[in-house]
Amino acid sequence: MSDIYALCTCGSGKKFRFCCQSISTTLEKAYSQARAGQLDSAVRTFDSAIAAQPDRLEIYLHKARLLDALKRRPEAEKALDLALATNANYASAHFLRAQWRMQEGEVPGAAILGRMAVDAYPADSKEQIALVYSFLADVESQMGHPIAARNALRMATRLDPANTNYSSGFEELFGAKSDMPMFIRREYTLLSPPSGSKRRASWDKLAKEHRSGRLSDLARMFTTLATQDSQDPAAVHNAGLINAWLGDNTQALEYLGKYIQLETDPVRKENALVLSEVLSTGHGSEPGDHAQHEFVFLARNPPALDKLLNKFNGEKRFSPYHVDETEQGQTIIEAYFLQMKDAAHGIITPGETAPEEKFARVVAHFNLAMPRVHVSGTDKSIIQGLRDEFAQGLGWTDKEAPVRSTGRLGHLAREPLMVSTQQGVPHEELMARQLAECTKEYELSWPHKKLKSLHGSSPQEAVATPEGKQRVSALIRFHEEASLVGQRIGYSFNRVRRLLGLPTTGTEPQTSVIPPTAVMEQSPQAAFQLAVQANDDAAASSHAKAWLSSPGIEDRFAAANHLARQAQKAGDWVGAMTALESGQATDGGGRKADYLARRGQCLLKLNRLPEACGLFDQLAAGDTPESRQALALAVESLVSAGHGTEAGRLANTGKAQAAKAQNRDLEEHFNELARAAGKI
Ligand SMILES: [Zn+2]
Repeated sequence: MSDIYALCTCGSGKKFRFCCQSISTTLEKAYSQARAGQLDSAVRTFDSAIAAQPDRLEIYLHKARLLDALKRRPEAEKALDLALATNANYASAHFLRAQWRMQEGEVPGAAILGRMAVDAYPADSKEQIALVYSFLADVESQMGHPIAARNALRMATRLDPANTNYSSGFEELFGAKSDMPMFIRREYTLLSPPSGSKRRASWDKLAKEHRSGRLSDLARMFTTLATQDSQDPAAVHNAGLINAWLGDNTQALEYLGKYIQLETDPVRKENALVLSEVLSTGHGSEPGDHAQHEFVFLARNPPALDKLLNKFNGEKRFSPYHVDETEQGQTIIEAYFLQMKDAAHGIITPGETAPEEKFARVVAHFNLAMPRVHVSGTDKSIIQGLRDEFAQGLGWTDKEAPVRSTGRLGHLAREPLMVSTQQGVPHEELMARQLAECTKEYELSWPHKKLKSLHGSSPQEAVATPEGKQRVSALIRFHEEASLVGQRIGYSFNRVRRLLGLPTTGTEPQTSVIPPTAVMEQSPQAAFQLAVQANDDAAASSHAKAWLSSPGIEDRFAAANHLARQAQKAGDWVGAMTALESGQATDGGGRKADYLARRGQCLLKLNRLPEACGLFDQLAAGDTPESRQALALAVESLVSAGHGTEAGRLANTGKAQAAKAQNRDLEEHFNELARAAGKI
């Protein structure tokens, strides 16, 4: 271990100097045996160390990690069992298991073990607990629990403020520039005890007993308070919120439901209603009002899949908007399935030619990260129909890749999205059509839907009572905050409010709708994003140029990069570089790392290695979270272009920087790149 004051690799949460340094002779011996291929001897070295010092549980951890690295997980599990038999509350064993469950796709199990680890680590192992929290942020977001994911990452930034990976990750996912709906980005806070009441004394008394500040402790405290007095709105609210942070949406909804009955302040009540709507989705929820239907399969026969996708494409109902290949050669395709007018079941029947339409509505999402394919949407019959077509095309049995339904926020932000299916349709026309589609969805269709969150009534019916009015207002705000499409074209949800006789809000312009052209003039950035979303490359390019030449907008990298990619597609690497250079020149120093990496990639394609390396050296001198990520990209391009020496040198620089910043994933990534470079 190079830095003896870094966290020990056994996962104890202590510094190596005060943890496994005393057994470093054993560790070195075992690992050098393993490196020399004497695997059984390495395992025996650990066994005799355990026999000599049975109370040193760290040795079990090292042995388990070694066995796991040797792909002998069942034996590794046994080593952990033995450690846990001595101490059932052994945090590092729980955390290691949590990571294994995650690798195996057993996400709910990973969540439970991760939470156990958080509770079991000593409170002063802050860096280690932060690491577990950042792991839990991933776990919770995979389970569709964005409130718990945000809280976990927030906890990581608080426990280990020096680690900029947490703060920059938080900013990217939940910060001001994130695409996430406001109801996820919002900072929810605990309510204070009722002032001057008798309840205050009970709060103080319990707070003394639960002073650890751990979430699980706080959950117990507020559950007790809420049980003592079920009429104490603040305690009931806090019990709900903390359960949401812990990823227990069922408990959270139960408490929030009670709180909503007790709360008399309309603003707080609406916030709780919106939060309840968010918590009604994700792992463990009923499909409900935000049902998503999906099927997942592994592409075992790529040529057959290719043929099928080509057929869909020929029928003009498949619209790829992101096709890419990672440096490791993994194919990535993201695409929309489009609904054609006059077609039976919304999707045209196989073999039939689509009627010529300028626009089509997105009805399903296709996501391939080779070999995993995921198809999802909100209309069950469409997804079932697509599943049957895939089954036929790929020769599945009836049982393969069944359609599953869950409650997910998934597509909420993008509905109702339109895509133009013909080249050269003016952008204004698409915007106008998109606006019409929003009007249809939110004003004609939604008010008449029977909703679970309105106890089976439609919004139109529910607004007959004061309580119903409040609930419908909250639902409209939920959609307003979720709808990316609505925000980008300037659709005003006050139209829905007026339609249902509800008070309008000041957050949206009072003029009914901003004409699409005005949006474009005001914000070439918004127009660019909409064009990208609509898969209209030509329009996106023209808005990208407008954006690059408009004053006062920071961070134009997306525009410059779009133009570079377009040039690249045409094999014009000089053009690509010019686009990036002019982008960087107007961007006033922002996104410097991304520009350097991309420009270097172009230079490599033009066989101008020394110049490319000059730019990459500037990256290596950066040593910020952004520059390190960009450096990894740069090294990947050097490896794939076959420049082993340069790649190896920069990979080692990156590795040292990642190690110093304690970004283990990135460190390992650089490690792999260095190995790949060594083989060239
Ligand atoms: Zn240790």
